[in-house]
Amino acid sequence: MAIEKYSKPSTFYLSSKKDFFSSNEPLLKKAIEQNQLYANQPKRACCKICQSRLVGDVDFSSHGVGYIFCEKCNHLNGSYDDTQSFVEKMYMSEDGKEYASNYLDENFEKRAIEVYVPKVDFLITTLPPKKYKILDVGCGSGYFVLASLLRNLSAEGLDVSRTMVEFGNSQIRHHCDSAPLKSVDEVAFFDEIKNTDADVISAIGVIEHLREPQKFFEAFRESASNYLYYSVPMFSLSVALENVFSNVFPRQLSGGHTHLFTEESIIEMNKIMDVSSIGEWRFGTDIMDLYRNLTVNLQSNGVSQKMVDYVYKGFGSKIDAIQHILDSNHSCSEIHVVAVKNSGV
Ligand SMILES: [Zn+2]
Repeated sequence: MAIEKYSKPSTFYLSSKKDFFSSNEPLLKKAIEQNQLYANQPKRACCKICQSRLVGDVDFSSHGVGYIFCEKCNHLNGSYDDTQSFVEKMYMSEDGKEYASNYLDENFEKRAIEVYVPKVDFLITTLPPKKYKILDVGCGSGYFVLASLLRNLSAEGLDVSRTMVEFGNSQIRHHCDSAPLKSVDEVAFFDEIKNTDADVISAIGVIEHLREPQKFFEAFRESASNYLYYSVPMFSLSVALENVFSNVFPRQLSGGHTHLFTEESIIEMNKIMDVSSIGEWRFGTDIMDLYRNLTVNLQSNGVSQKMVDYVYKGFGSKIDAIQHILDSNHSCSEIHVVAVKNSGV
């Protein structure tokens, strides 16, 4: 029986994602452009996770892209292939937002502590006590690596983005005298995973961005690592909201998110990797998204601040309590899973 944990406070989301409320127009425009690029790729033939042939009509379309549930594993697939050129165009434009700096970025530390330390704590409370060595793949700027170091674990990070790795190392250096992040190309990325001596491989918000997730599944299976810690985005109420409110930035299913997991496709993926789940933490931002959809539309309808304040008082202030109902119903926008190899030591 896996350890189950539900929900988390939304306060950091409210303060750190203010843009989602105030910059709806530019965010929506960018998402639609990215979806157009995606819709220009060749049609996807097989499920991103179980690789069964996708048959039948799309289940729904949102912001210019059709989506189809896999008949075998219920994974939600975008109708198009995320080709090499799509991925390059998507992530090259993301790269280079942050630059290596000698100055301590206070937001970096704040984000590592507020968002990533709770993730590390969930891992620590799930695993038997030991000083684990972690390889964080797709580490980006290394928030999870810093959070692990702050919790006195041994941790290294791996990413294909040199800019993010350099920025992250420049920040982490302020906390400990090392540069734990390493940048590698796509081929070396999977080789490093196969050859790691880490006890735990973590992939937080990474698997959904991989062009060929099967390469990751294989690399993990072949590695000596006994544990895997991952988080992935899920099909949930947020996706229905995005289908209805087409004038609001779709946070869950656009841009780099071309496919989403379901409870069944998580089980299928665990089977492919030959792991068993020992810890599951579900928390979503579905109700935050509902509140955002309402607020953006009320504001564009020109309602008074008094009305907006009343909506906050009666509904916005209860987001966490309402979200908890969805989380505990296993129907929310994100899941964290700690899993152990079935063939493990
Ligand atoms: Zn499938």
